[in-house]
Amino acid sequence: MSPTGVYVHVPFCVARCAYCDFAIHLTTDEAVHARYYDALVREWETRASGPGPVVSIYFGGGTPSLAPPAAIARIISAIKHLSPVAADLEVTLEANPGTVTEDTLHGYREAGVNRLSLGVQAADTQILKAMNRTHNFVQAVEAIGWARAAGMDNVNLDAIYGYPGQELADVERTVQALLDQEPEHLSLYQLQVEPGTPLARDVSRGRAALPDPDLTADMADRAAELSEAVGLRRYEVSNFARPGRTSRHNRLYWNQDPYVGLGMAAHSFDGRRRSWNVRSLSGYLARVEAGQPSELSGETLGQEALMSEFVWLGLRQVDGIAALNFSQRFGVTLESRFGSVIEPLRRSGLIAAERGRLFLSPRGFEVMNRILPEFLPESPQELS
Ligand code: SF4
Repeated sequence: MSPTGVYVHVPFCVARCAYCDFAIHLTTDEAVHARYYDALVREWETRASGPGPVVSIYFGGGTPSLAPPAAIARIISAIKHLSPVAADLEVTLEANPGTVTEDTLHGYREAGVNRLSLGVQAADTQILKAMNRTHNFVQAVEAIGWARAAGMDNVNLDAIYGYPGQELADVERTVQALLDQEPEHLSLYQLQVEPGTPLARDVSRGRAALPDPDLTADMADRAAELSEAVGLRRYEVSNFARPGRTSRHNRLYWNQDPYVGLGMAAHSFDGRRRSWNVRSLSGYLARVEAGQPSELSGETLGQEALMSEFVWLGLRQVDGIAALNFSQRFGVTLESRFGSVIEPLRRSGLIAAERGRLFLSPRGFEVMNRILPEFLPESPQELS
């Protein structure tokens, strides 16, 4: 039985960040929030039959830390009630500094949250303002202290690099400031400018200039050096962790394990079929409250698409892919399906195979954006 994850989307935010294109809803109306949490429980009651024990619950957003601890407790308990869960279940809650208090963090811990993921993004006030974040770094440090006092011994901190106006020294300062908080996990994301966002408009009108690609690459390298120097090992392109503290939920995604997504716009995957819920809050509430399926659409991935995706996601992880895992999943060996791609990369020193695993070399890791497309299916329609 494959381990299963449950992703719970909490779409509410107090303001839209300049770079954000996530499915969110800007409201602090408590009645709307309460309706939505009721709907999440109701949706779970109709969809609880996952393929295996739940090993991870992930409250993502939006801003899950706008949800009262009692709502989080109710959802966790509904999941546990209707599905077998692993004894060492990981329960992550994304939080924004400025939306948590000492009391709410205690409440989340008591509800069963054992991993906090705090969206700090930057230490520099000007950059935070440019991002339209609604907090400052002092609030982030305060939130980390409260989380520790509440008994959270697994804390992830998020930061973004490559933002307009950022210099290498700014990124160093942010990463060092985060590392000074001794997190168990660090996610360092390169900025993606998503179409339709305020940031994309500013960039296209010349009001914001992205750092040049060499500088952005230097930022990534320096951030990795600083993190690894204090024992946070890189295990995926954007993620660093202390031993035993990698994100179980993210590993489910990267290892193509199944997950159920609850809430508006949430995606699900059953091992072959990917589906997604209606994207608007009103549409989601209307469907769930009327007892209709929350799913908007879906696609079944063919064998070729699944194999390519498995390799693509696997090679973004430092430890790469277990060849045995590939052949057990797909009934063919990695070598027989991708040997013609792997061999030249191996001869060039970009990919290596050791102890039954295939992984990118340090040089290959630096140019992965050029390597990974080699593993895509030749025919684009294979992806759908
Ligand atoms: S807090 Fe997160 S989800 Fe909300 S607008 Fe900002 S980036 Fe988007």
